[in-house]
Amino acid sequence: MADYNSMPEAEFRAMVREFVTGIFPPDLLHVARRVGPLEVAQYNRQMAGKGWIAPAWPVEYGGMGLDVAHQIAFAEELSAIGVPRLHEMGLVMLGPLLMQFGTEKQKQYYLPKIVSAEHVWCQGYSEPNAGSDLASLRLAALREGKEWVLNGQKIWTTMAHQSNMMFLLARTDPSPRIRQEGISFFLVDLAAPGITVRPIRTLSDELEFCEVFFDNVRVPIENLVGELHKGWTIAKALLGHERLFVGSPRYVKGAMDRLDALAAASGREAPGFSPDRYTKLHLDYQDFLALYADYSSFVKNGGELGAEASILKLLSSETYQAVTEEILSMSAEAGVAAGGDNAEQAEAATMFFQSRPSTIAGGTSQVQRNIIAKAVLNLPSA
Ligand SMILES: Cc1cc2nc3c(=O)[nH]c(=O)nc-3n(C[C@H](O)[C@H](O)[C@H](O)COP(=O)(O)OP(=O)(O)OC[C@H]3O[C@@H](n4cnc5c(N)ncnc54)[C@H](O)[C@@H]3O)c2cc1C
Repeated sequence: MADYNSMPEAEFRAMVREFVTGIFPPDLLHVARRVGPLEVAQYNRQMAGKGWIAPAWPVEYGGMGLDVAHQIAFAEELSAIGVPRLHEMGLVMLGPLLMQFGTEKQKQYYLPKIVSAEHVWCQGYSEPNAGSDLASLRLAALREGKEWVLNGQKIWTTMAHQSNMMFLLARTDPSPRIRQEGISFFLVDLAAPGITVRPIRTLSDELEFCEVFFDNVRVPIENLVGELHKGWTIAKALLGHERLFVGSPRYVKGAMDRLDALAAASGREAPGFSPDRYTKLHLDYQDFLALYADYSSFVKNGGELGAEASILKLLSSETYQAVTEEILSMSAEAGVAAGGDNAEQAEAATMFFQSRPSTIAGGTSQVQRNIIAKAVLNLPSA
């Protein structure tokens, strides 16, 4: 594997652009809807064949071993090309977590299958009545000989219907001292008998989420990750990886580029353009970028991924939403001035709607603020 980190950034970007542009067909680029892992499986395999599927992973596990500057450049190039999301639950969440908590056997078995896209993972955390209050989850796992038997339900499981594996949290102790205890982290093959995956049709008429039901599902004991009853620690670590990912510049950058293009095209005199708002959004964006570069570099250099990831998640998702609101309002004003609706407005509306769930997924903004108050600022509970 070439030492990409020693390549000048411009050269690295050009190389990425050339290779990646040749892989994905044009009708999958810049697509407004959520593209599922099955649709992109063959292209992911081409990326994997080149060794370019896991930019942040160490080379020894099949990653690119990129430093933070090159990771950001890589993500920005993919975003500019309009590449759909990869099978990120495995790449961004489970992989790094197994590197930290998995046994050697689990690492050897699962990590290559994530890289090759043979395993497409989904995340089984949320349940009815256990979203923000995740510790009240009830899916039960009871030990029977060399197996765990799972009964219960998950909900809002993104792309479960296009995945073949699920990592999940289950209650292994029904009456713990405190609710955060007695939860364990399991790896489950979705082909196991007793699992029913039922897609949920969303308001935008897409199948993105699922309900997943478990009826006496048998899971081998070696599929437990980390210590029994100590899954909460792992769950929190995984959410840290998720927040670092959701808090990455990828989506907010796409929106900011679009806002810049609109501002440049219509000129500062254009209806709906506010220099004040535009400047504030840029300042927020620059603050976020600086913080992201700092924090990811700290983590990449061995720093512990802590509650600070919540700051990034909050800044990224809220700036993303504020920028898409501005795009929508500018496009609407421009459309009215031009005397009708147009494709630009439709695209602006799509971008706006896409940004909406970002302040809910991976923990809501209110939950992030609670975490920041307690774990970063050490404020006393209200
Ligand atoms: C796009 C998307 C993808 C998702 N993918 C997955 C997935 O793959 N796997 C998975 O397990 N889950 C997934 N989820 C579920 C997500 O984790 C939950 O929606 C989220 O944690 C909120 O839980 P909830 O929906 O039950 O809302 P609730 O927890 O019921 O919250 C309702 C409202 O109350 C507020 N609230 C709750 N508690 C507090 C508090 N203590 N202080 C202040 N305000 C509070 C919340 O902020 C929110 O505004 C996804 C959600 C979205 C939107």
